[in-house]
Amino acid sequence: MVQPEKLDEVESTDADIVIAGSGMGGLTAALSAQEAGAQVIVIEKAPTIGGSAAVSGGTVWCAENLEAWLSVQPGGDPALGKALIDNFFEGVDWLHRQGVEMKELKNLPPFKFTRRVYQLIPDARTAIDHLAARITEGRGTILAGTRLHRLRQNGRGRVNGVLALGPKGFVEISARAVVLATGGFQASDEMRSRYFGRWADRIIVRSNPYSTGDGLKAALDVGAATSGPFSRFYGHMVPAPPAETGLHNFVHVKPDFSEYAIFVNLNGDRFDDEFLGDEVTVHAAIHQPEATIVLIFDEPIRRKRGSPWSSADSPIDRIEHIRQAGGEVLEAMTLETLVEAMASRWNVRRDRALETLTAYNAACASGDASSLAVPKSGGLDPITTPPFYALRMLPGATFTYGGVRVNARAEIVDTVGAPIEGLYAAGADVGGIYTRGYTGGLSLGLAYGRIAGKGAASLREGTGDE
Ligand SMILES: Cc1cc2nc3c(=O)[nH]c(=O)nc-3n(C[C@H](O)[C@H](O)[C@H](O)COP(=O)(O)OP(=O)(O)OC[C@H]3O[C@@H](n4cnc5c(N)ncnc54)[C@H](O)[C@@H]3O)c2cc1C
Repeated sequence: MVQPEKLDEVESTDADIVIAGSGMGGLTAALSAQEAGAQVIVIEKAPTIGGSAAVSGGTVWCAENLEAWLSVQPGGDPALGKALIDNFFEGVDWLHRQGVEMKELKNLPPFKFTRRVYQLIPDARTAIDHLAARITEGRGTILAGTRLHRLRQNGRGRVNGVLALGPKGFVEISARAVVLATGGFQASDEMRSRYFGRWADRIIVRSNPYSTGDGLKAALDVGAATSGPFSRFYGHMVPAPPAETGLHNFVHVKPDFSEYAIFVNLNGDRFDDEFLGDEVTVHAAIHQPEATIVLIFDEPIRRKRGSPWSSADSPIDRIEHIRQAGGEVLEAMTLETLVEAMASRWNVRRDRALETLTAYNAACASGDASSLAVPKSGGLDPITTPPFYALRMLPGATFTYGGVRVNARAEIVDTVGAPIEGLYAAGADVGGIYTRGYTGGLSLGLAYGRIAGKGAASLREGTGDE
């Protein structure tokens, strides 16, 4: 690695606050700090700004209260959850004040917990560009194609800037605080294989490709503590190749109705409670043989209007989108011929898959799925009405749940729990918020971006050997 200190000339500049990452967390932090009077520089690794936030579905949502949030975060930290929810609501008002257009979605089908949902209008990219414009119209600077290389510290351990690598080489930026908002580590092959098990290479990166754990690594270098769970992440099942999936169609190929269907692995066995949602079953899917799973359902489930996201007046035909992407959709008039095709095309154990379907349909008929080898907590729709369908899928990771340990002020803490002065995190770089369930990614960026930006701006100038 080049040691920039040894180079003759390292360009240098300064700001009050440096923010690494220009997604939801980074831009919110930057604009919040700027509003509080700070001069900000945002550095962004990608050639264009916006991260996953800009290509997201633009649904800004969160659990309505702490009780609802904890119902899907077993062992979740109430202080971090409360900070998330309080600052989500405050953040929604703030977004309105910034001139970001969005509308509240009210008549959605029942969900697993009470929540509040807003939709960015016309889309997430417009909202992100609007926030970026507010920053640059103020005194702020956004440097695309410039990535965080490492953090700078003074003699007492206070973080006082960054060393960044831009198109013209290294740039040293002095600042009184730094906010890490680099979007998690899901795009790092090496880190996925460290935390996600033996099939990690098969996991589809369902996010921007630049979030490779740079924020976490930089924070670890200055003594930050971590907070898991490192083996879990927000994601969804994604149609397996030959389907061509990417940022252009991830949203439309998401199997929203999977709660009502079943997933089997290549052994033909169910492996988790599908009613938890594929954002949770995806965690078990990464440990199935070859991380390959098959979604099985019938025509009424396909037509179901119970999807938690699509309102009755705008249903999305996921199967059509998957077909358009080149995905293999097996279709048959009997379950026997369906499993036959699954066996010959995809190597699924035929007899076992049929036994699984038979046991599942019997449980649906009795209304009790608790005695199944893998119980199902709801969504007991029998798979009995042809045509029957099967989709071969792989787990897709959108952002990781493990990251730096923070307190409810978004200050990154060290391994004895003391805040590392001058160092904050926002968005997916924050670890320890989600333990299992998912209550929004944009909300995490918005809420912790607000906390981090305001906190960093209020930090006093350091003294001594800055
Ligand atoms: C297809 C898709 C659909 C989604 N839909 C929704 C939705 O509808 N609702 C919802 O709540 N969430 C959704 N999400 C998730 C949401 O987009 C993310 O949770 C959110 O954007 C996270 O914000 P962030 O700021 O942490 O990360 P990001 O928005 O990803 O931003 C991180 C930024 O950091 C940059 N970066 C990485 N390393 C460095 C470095 N070394 N130096 C400088 N910059 C760096 C990256 O390039 C990136 O621009 C979706 C995501 C995807 C991919």
